[in-house]
Amino acid sequence: VLPELTGDLDTILEWADEFRTMGVRANADNPEDAELSRNFGAEGIGLCRTEHMFLGDRKQIIQSFILNDEPAVREKALADLLEAQTGDFYGMFKAMDGLPVIVRLLDPPLHEFLESPRDLEVEIARLEASGTPAAELADKRQLLSLVDAMAEANPMLGLRGCRLAILYPELPAMQTRAIATAAARLKKEGLDPEPEIMIPLVSVLPELETLRAEVEAVIAEVCEAEGVELDIPIGTMIELPRAAVTADEIATQADFFSFGTNDLTQTTFGFSRDDVEAKFIPRYLERRILPCNPFETVDAGVAALVDMGCTKGRATNPDIQLGVCGEHGGDPDSVKTFHKIGLTYVSCSPYRVPLARLAAGQAALAEKMGDHRDK
Ligand code: PEP
Ligand code: MG
Repeated sequence: VLPELTGDLDTILEWADEFRTMGVRANADNPEDAELSRNFGAEGIGLCRTEHMFLGDRKQIIQSFILNDEPAVREKALADLLEAQTGDFYGMFKAMDGLPVIVRLLDPPLHEFLESPRDLEVEIARLEASGTPAAELADKRQLLSLVDAMAEANPMLGLRGCRLAILYPELPAMQTRAIATAAARLKKEGLDPEPEIMIPLVSVLPELETLRAEVEAVIAEVCEAEGVELDIPIGTMIELPRAAVTADEIATQADFFSFGTNDLTQTTFGFSRDDVEAKFIPRYLERRILPCNPFETVDAGVAALVDMGCTKGRATNPDIQLGVCGEHGGDPDSVKTFHKIGLTYVSCSPYRVPLARLAAGQAALAEKMGDHRDK
């Protein structure tokens, strides 16, 4: 049984909801977390990280699609993925019936889908030592040379997000088909699915233009085949400084922006998200070089980029929806900063939704009451 809000806490949060002007959504990628988010008062899913749906066997399928040049093998891999993803999205949209669900196309670095060269080397050495037949060894060596050729020194700055989608257009097409098919089926069952599609890690307009056109074409095909009408907004993450400073251009192709302040913090400071926690940030805090951990509470410089992205985005697309889906979306101090910037909503992990509702209510109340501090 999933937890629910009851009693005084529920009442206080309802009061906060009466004041807040910013929406609160959740980051969730499975029906159970979606339902939990609803229980906690989320008004939609601001980020469904589809890479979390690609664990275990599905990683192998992506590897076989990427490394194989046999058309039949690749088609089979895509068909398997399409079937699995259609089921995933059907479950998500059903759990969030009547509320928006922003599905982000695959984001992680390519190497996360491929076997690691180091593990393969160890395996080959072990197979050699145990007298494995030459043919089997040759297959492993072939695989090693393929993954070796694709290895990157900085995967987080490499073939990730929309870059992967541009180079392997079959993957976003498969995901879009799954999203639209799941939505069409639910509509035919009388439900009200509200999917939105988000393109990650955009830095230049042509990335978004290219992928938007491909995504729209697939949606149109599914609508035709299923005999339904679907209105699926298409937007982008703003998580690289270049995207924030050219947001006026990017907004011409986006129905919404979602600021990915995790990556935006990483790329603005040049701090690696994967290393800083345990390494130098704590020492920076001790020495007061930084007032707080910028991965926890949004930094003033990163907030300035968010502000700039919103102003520029609205300049060319006045109706654009503006949200944030980095960890900061559930941090009360950051939520207050996002309220001042004028975001449409924040999105955070399900268990932080109540805190975000309260912080958004407090921010709106503080604004309403004005500044009455004793001077
Ligand atoms: C972000 O970068 O802030 C974000 C939400 O995306 P992810 O954490 O999945 O990279
Ligand atoms: Mg990101």
